[in-house]
This record gives sequence, C-alpha cells and structure tokens, in this order.
Amino acid sequence: MTKRTPVIAGNWKMHNTLAESAALIEALKTAGNKNNAEVIVAPSFTSLAKVAELAKGSHIQVSCQDVHWEDKGAFTSAVSPVQAKDAGATLTILGHSERRSVFGDTDEILNKKVAAALRHGLTIIFCVGETLQEREANETIAVINAQLENGLKGYTAEELKGLIIAYEPVWAIGTGKTATPDQAQEVHAAIRQFLADKYGQEYADATRILYGGSVKDSNVDEIMAQPDVDGALVGGQALLADKFARIINFN
Ligand code: PEP
Repeated sequence: MTKRTPVIAGNWKMHNTLAESAALIEALKTAGNKNNAEVIVAPSFTSLAKVAELAKGSHIQVSCQDVHWEDKGAFTSAVSPVQAKDAGATLTILGHSERRSVFGDTDEILNKKVAAALRHGLTIIFCVGETLQEREANETIAVINAQLENGLKGYTAEELKGLIIAYEPVWAIGTGKTATPDQAQEVHAAIRQFLADKYGQEYADATRILYGGSVKDSNVDEIMAQPDVDGALVGGQALLADKFARIINFN
C-alpha cells in the first residue's frame, strides 16, 4: 500500500497583522520537521505575499483560505485563483465550514471553486464535515459523501490527483471539543471507502485525509496514530508558534 506523507496545515483565518504573520512564519521555519511532513500555512490574503516571500526556500508551503471561481471581474472583495497564485499560494483551502456556514458556500459554488483551483494548478484542501445535529441523527457519513460527491462532481481521479481532504466535524471546530481518535478513524475510513468506490483503490490509498477540529499539542499524537488519519488541519493552535511546532513534530 502507498505510504502517505503526513500533512500538517495551519489555518490562520482572519488573524495576524503583517508583522505578526512574519514573526510566526520565521519561528516555524526553525521549528524542525522530524516526520518530514508537508507543512502548510494559510495566512489571510493581506499577509499571503509577505508570508510566501519569507517561506521561500524553506520546507513550508503557503496556501490561501479560499478563492473565487472566476479569474477576474466585478466581484468586490473576492480574490481569484490567479491573484492567489501571483501572491505565492500553491494551495487553497476550499469548503471550510466557516465558508459554508457564514458565507454561504454551497456544494454547487464549491464545485465551481474546485474547477477554478484545478484550472490554475492550486492544490486543493477540500473540507467536509457534519454538524452536531447531523451526527446525532446518524447522518454523518451521508452528509460527508454528499459534500464530496457534489463538490468534486465532474472530475476524474487523474484530474483530482494530489487533492487533500480535511474531515472537520463542525461541532469540533474552535470549540475545544475534539472527535475521539475512534470517531475520527471511523469517518476517515468511510471517506477512503468513498474515494475507492468512486475513483479506485489506488487513488484512495494515495489520498491524504486530514483531521481538523481542536487539534492541540496535547491530542495530536493519538489522532495521528489512527491508520486513516494522514495529517491535521489546525486553527487556534496554528497561531502559536510553540504549539504548532509541537503539532508538526507529532510522535
Ligand atoms: C479550522 O479552522 O480548520 C480548525 C480546525 O480550527 P480549530 O483547530 O481552532 O478547531
């Protein structure tokens, strides 16, 4: 079976001034990477170019947190994949639950954003996850399968090569509540099964599936020990250099 390189990604959300972003990336550059993980940071758009410049030549890759589906045009406040790439991003997060719930990104909109990212060669970190209500109604797997089915609609395994999936239960994001390692493993295995059924076993075996939702220095080791957990997407603790360094260097 394919050995998957771990991915540790930090989503800085709407945090950090330029100076704070610069200090954080400088600290992370010297934080070590004992697992040879792919280390990714996703600053806000105002810090993107600066962070990308400072990360150049290091092991850290820079992602944006979202892109618009058009390359340019009258879309006040939006940022296109062309602009994100120009600023130094090589990846983009799509479908983060805050984008879905606060900004109204539907599966259909996300499918257009997937098209835009693929068109411009941005690696996608595609987020999926259920609400607490959906979990309690035993709808978790159905919800996630629908998010994957509709968001990635129209693309082949070849076209989606390199795509990263992040399972982020909505009830665990920024709440301090983490899915148990067993809960995470159960959903990750189901996502891998979805990928196998839809795109073939080889694709499923090669695809990295990250867990996100209150990942901390104190719980990362047990989460990363799960066979289908290939990395973490981290919010709160990605803003703290020492905590994120410990997460990158998980045991
Ligand atoms: C996130 O924003 O993707 C996230 C998982 O946040 P937190 O780690 O703060 O729960």
